Amino acid sequence: MSSEPSSFEDEKPEDGLEEYIYKLAPKGSLTLFRLLKNEREELTEDEISEKLGISKNTVRKILYKLHDLNILVYRRMKEESTNWNTYYWKINWEGISLSLLNRKKEVLHKLRLRLAYEQANRVVYHCPKCGREYKFEEALANDFTCPICGVSLEYIDRSKEIAILEDYVRRLEEELADELKKIQSS
Ligand SMILES: [Zn+2]
Repeated sequence: MSSEPSSFEDEKPEDGLEEYIYKLAPKGSLTLFRLLKNEREELTEDEISEKLGISKNTVRKILYKLHDLNILVYRRMKEESTNWNTYYWKINWEGISLSLLNRKKEVLHKLRLRLAYEQANRVVYHCPKCGREYKFEEALANDFTCPICGVSLEYIDRSKEIAILEDYVRRLEEELADELKKIQSS
């Protein structure tokens, strides 16, 4: 185990796709992905293991996970002489577009829920002592005093944060629409 290269230590994702791989796949996945990306051709497990200087076991583990995530695909070839199968791996660019699209859809869905909540609670009252928040009706019912601390409540307007969130949701919606168009026309 200690023979694994230290280059695994400083894998730093540089775009959305790399971020996705970095978060969901085991250590070393980003290094392997970049190798396949730079080679621009199929590689076998053995070739990858040799080029990266890591064990075949580790390579296999990463390949399977990246395959699960739709990031890699393989082609199987039976060697006549040995009757063994050889697997040729490459990046699944089409599958990746779909995976990323679905992931963005999930993010968008969560953001919309959050936005709806924030919009419904645009104005809140906040206790400077305990930090509890109260909706307008609750604050009114308590005479604008924190029922727990007896301290006067302060008014918070979240309009600015909501505007930022709205803008973000709108941009994400546009991005998604664009990508969907690209996939459908390819
Ligand atoms: Zn309080």
